[in-house]
Amino acid sequence: MRIVFLGPPGAGKGTQAQRLMAEHGMVQVSTGDLLRDAVRRGTPAGLRAKARMDAGALVSDDIVLELIRDRLDAPDTRRGFILDGFPRNVAQAEALGPELAGIGQALDAVILLDVDLDILMKRITGRRTCSLTGKLLNIHFSPRAELDACTRAGGTLIQRADDNEATIANRLKVYREQTEQLVPHYERLGLLRRVDGEGSVEEVYARLLDALGLVG
Ligand code: AMP
Repeated sequence: MRIVFLGPPGAGKGTQAQRLMAEHGMVQVSTGDLLRDAVRRGTPAGLRAKARMDAGALVSDDIVLELIRDRLDAPDTRRGFILDGFPRNVAQAEALGPELAGIGQALDAVILLDVDLDILMKRITGRRTCSLTGKLLNIHFSPRAELDACTRAGGTLIQRADDNEATIANRLKVYREQTEQLVPHYERLGLLRRVDGEGSVEEVYARLLDALGLVG
């Protein structure tokens, strides 16, 4: 399947995408991860993107489109993919259609993960990534055993540079002003499916499978 995950920062897009990837063989394509990797490696795109990311603003469409084009060219995406964090505005959505048509593919569904604002804040400020496995965890919500497993194996729980309160406010504003317009856009195309993103990872995952017509 070829799916887009829509939803505000902290809605659980990355967590649910990792789960679908592990259990249903779809590849998670996260423009945020691709950009963070470009920043770490100091590529020209990374150098251009860094200040925008630190401010919680969108990186320019041309940078993101080039990253996504390269990623979708890789053979592992042929079996299906989850676009996590892309598209983020109408221009990107309009560029995606022809891009997919060019490689003979089309979207099957766009999932909107719906979550209340105060829950988002807790999810974002508590979010950590295990340095060893890349697994997304949360100091407020993940089981103690999962957090300990990372540190006991010699890993550290890393907080993203842009997961601080000042930047989060801006990221939420950008979502409301630009990304939310994609909801009516994909509704018109008949692709949108709403999933309640509140509750445990397990509960949301069960709803997600149901919305996609997949068996757990
Ligand atoms: P994320 O990991 O999806 O929360 O993205 C982190 C940051 O990367 C965002 O706040 C943006 O600065 C940038 N970013 C990620 N995806 C996009 C996109 N599709 N368009 C523009 N900027 C993006």
